[in-house]
Amino acid sequence: MSLLDKFVHTNISQPYILVCSSKAQMLFSKELLDKESILNELIPTPKGFGGVCTTAIKFDKKFEKKVEDIVKENRISYQGIYSLEHKYKYDLTEIYEFKISDRFRKIVKKVEANIELQKEEVKFLLGINNKSEYKALIKMADIIRKECVGDRIELRAAIEFSNYCGKNCNYCGVRRDNSTHRYRMSEEEILQEVDKLYKIGIKTVILQSGEDPYYTTDMILSIVKEIKDRYKMGITLSIGERKEEEYKLFSEAGVNNYLLKIETANERLFNKIHPDDSYDDRVSHHGFIKNAGIRLGSGGMIGLPSQTMDEISEDIIFQRDFGVHMIGFGPFLPAKGTPYAEEKKGDLDLTLKVVAITRIICQHVFLPATTAIASLHPDGQTLALKAGANTIMLISTPQHLRENYQIYSKKNMVDLSFAIKSTEEAGRKLPKYLNYEYIKQLGYRIDDKLIN
Ligand code: SF4
Repeated sequence: MSLLDKFVHTNISQPYILVCSSKAQMLFSKELLDKESILNELIPTPKGFGGVCTTAIKFDKKFEKKVEDIVKENRISYQGIYSLEHKYKYDLTEIYEFKISDRFRKIVKKVEANIELQKEEVKFLLGINNKSEYKALIKMADIIRKECVGDRIELRAAIEFSNYCGKNCNYCGVRRDNSTHRYRMSEEEILQEVDKLYKIGIKTVILQSGEDPYYTTDMILSIVKEIKDRYKMGITLSIGERKEEEYKLFSEAGVNNYLLKIETANERLFNKIHPDDSYDDRVSHHGFIKNAGIRLGSGGMIGLPSQTMDEISEDIIFQRDFGVHMIGFGPFLPAKGTPYAEEKKGDLDLTLKVVAITRIICQHVFLPATTAIASLHPDGQTLALKAGANTIMLISTPQHLRENYQIYSKKNMVDLSFAIKSTEEAGRKLPKYLNYEYIKQLGYRIDDKLIN
């Protein structure tokens, strides 16, 4: 059995899902199914069966009765058991009005019927280079985005609390061997920044760092506990690979999401860009995070040195097959002082096609309009939102430190003004949950029509 097979069961030929009423019930059910040797995996709940970015348990039809008995016997609170034969269908009539080839037309029909696309079809879409088909692809992603996550942008904010890192990823500006001013924020400094985010109404904070063992499990748990107690905010951790046991502790402490990008799902390229990492370990960690009951964030870079279209197609399919909840694809951007400093940056149109195809095949998930795409082109973020993305991450690291956290050079320090501008230009809505009264007092001008 390959490592991927351990986490992705392609042999579930007649997929059913169990949708539980809470994370605790979902984890308990999974434990019971595992005990009964019922092959299962955690996937983002597909459109039509539950909320966006929630998790369902997938299993084969032959276990339907057994699963039902288990949940009933154990008084599990669940929403339902459903066959994925009856998946949500999309109306893509508009796409046929574009001038598209017969092959494209066949793909649109499959997407309409919600039949999974194969690698060759993904590769075909990636290779589109005429204007009409490009527009049709972006439009198709936009229709599916609207159906799955609506018009409202999800706004999250990242505090990059340490740029120390024990690793030497070839593309990264904060890699171990790069000379840059190093900093670490204390728990109190982090909480002060969280407090500012809370005041403007941000619901999820992203705590990001290099792989820095200075922050022990207990220190991270203490920060998580304080944020939960004081602010009851959602928490995303992005602190690199930790032990399997730690993910479980983070989950129990209330961590909602964990961002650990694979960067490329191709083993050859993964090894080339990550001198200190093991591909198998990274895949295993993706599985550990999901199995701990934390929503998994992954994604990758487009335009890495020597990366092929075949590999990019595999990257997109990996995200779908692995059941990733939040998928951030951005262009490769060279960073000063790294082995890749002189390499060519990724291409805007290709990255936008990747975002669009990811929305088309992964559907009911969160897709950030990444900081990297906003750094590649002044309109990159707006264009990504138009191509299927729905999430923006604000850079909320203290001003005097943020210049030192540059995974790539010339990073766009996406702030609230920039996010408002991108949202408006993309014809989308800002979330109701922000504290607009306070934001306006800070001097921001926001048209109320932009709020939903
Ligand atoms: S990508 Fe992450 S793990 Fe790799 S060097 Fe940069 S901060 Fe460290």
